[in-house]
Amino acid sequence: MPGKARRWRAPAAIKASAVVHVAAVGAAVGSPAHWPFALGAIALNHGLLAAAGFVPRSGLLGPNITRLPARAAAAGAIALTFDDGPDPEITPRVLDLLEAAGARASFFCVGERVARHPGIASRIVAGGHSVENHSHRHATGFAWMPPRHLRRELRAAQHAIADATGRAPGYFRAPFGIRNPWLDPVLAMEGLHYVSWSTRAFDTVRNDARRVARAIGNGVRAGAVLLLHDGRATGLRHAQPSVLDALPEVLARIREHELETVTLPEAFAPAGGRDG
Ligand SMILES: [Zn+2]
Repeated sequence: MPGKARRWRAPAAIKASAVVHVAAVGAAVGSPAHWPFALGAIALNHGLLAAAGFVPRSGLLGPNITRLPARAAAAGAIALTFDDGPDPEITPRVLDLLEAAGARASFFCVGERVARHPGIASRIVAGGHSVENHSHRHATGFAWMPPRHLRRELRAAQHAIADATGRAPGYFRAPFGIRNPWLDPVLAMEGLHYVSWSTRAFDTVRNDARRVARAIGNGVRAGAVLLLHDGRATGLRHAQPSVLDALPEVLARIREHELETVTLPEAFAPAGGRDG
């Protein structure tokens, strides 16, 4: 179930890249002696674009939401996001903790896990949270996929999530937060918005709940987008994942700051309405 396609605008870095290519080819055609410089410029250009894809919060490869809009921040809103679920053991416990605190969150789910656990995905939505797209398979090679494969990953997850929850996501986050320049036009085609975060805590690799809570707690402020994980995609192998011990402390910090947790669709809904 694809969303409504939006117009794709080439990000400044892609426009600059096109200029580099044209100038390099022009220079090389003008004088064969310029060939090495032209090739060097193109190689450097590709290297820089690839490097930008490894900086999750970079906006060079296209619009990247790292904070809530100013209006939501001014109203004291904060977004909790959870990646890599649904997980049959962790997600229900995360949902219990959120419910006990009266908090809402956005879950960036892996499509094939939603297909495996549709009941958990629908429980997420029933709890007032939103389910967003974190690709279909959480493939390690996601950042190297050509446009056709990216599109297939995004679409398969859109379908699985819409089937389970009745709502197709409006937001996407790449596995490991790593992207390539093809992703942005594909997102536009599928009507999805790219989201990273303002603060994360590496809770899948750190099994120290106090450090995770402190790292996330330091990022608690109006307009923040916090990232934790409720799944085991990236090596969360500990018996008691740190998210379960850290989350109550994070929720307490949010309460202390008198902030209100909101889902991404709510935070970005046009004034006066929610877009579901
Ligand atoms: Zn992930």
